[in-house]
Amino acid sequence: MEVKSFTFNDYQENTYVVATGDKCIIIDPGNYSEEENFLIKSFINERSLKPQYILITHAHIDHVLGIDFLSKEYLIDVYIPSSEKEIYNNIPSYAPIFGMSNYKHNDKVILVEHSNDIFFDEIKISTLFLPGHSPGHLGYFFEKENVCFSGDVLFKNSIGRTDLPGGDFDTLISSIKNTLFRLDDDVIIYPGHGPSTTIRDEINENPFLK
Ligand SMILES: [Zn+2]
Repeated sequence: MEVKSFTFNDYQENTYVVATGDKCIIIDPGNYSEEENFLIKSFINERSLKPQYILITHAHIDHVLGIDFLSKEYLIDVYIPSSEKEIYNNIPSYAPIFGMSNYKHNDKVILVEHSNDIFFDEIKISTLFLPGHSPGHLGYFFEKENVCFSGDVLFKNSIGRTDLPGGDFDTLISSIKNTLFRLDDDVIIYPGHGPSTTIRDEINENPFLK
């Protein structure tokens, strides 16, 4: 399995293309400008990858800007955590205020419950319920591959903000300590912003979690 990351939009959001064989999925597409659309499309097409679907960790605008373009370009489904639907539905009302007047909303999404497992080819993806940054936030844990896409919950030496609607500091800390930190030490964390890290490094070095 290969993980390709892009950093997109004004919020420096990490968009991931996860590939196995000739198939791929896209996690948190933040592509917004024409140049960003071109970059992700070129990567997929040059590698002759066939996108299967889009997975969303949580519905903040910087993580979903590319949904409309990619779902139409490749005719693929979009999976959003069920408890993030309300936050997703609100985006069109505030996108222009955030300077994203070109945001196009795609309402054809499939809701994921946090008890659902998801399959990508032969790979099993467990969903981890990680509220605190956003109320319905999910992490996507690729158990056999030891990899977790954790959105905006845990960053290298930092943690997600909790001052946005539905955010809560104690809940965030509990999601990290009681769910993420119970994963194996070697699990690689691919966060929504900044560089990747490991569970071990964050347990040992993250100043917010001492
Ligand atoms: Zn966020």
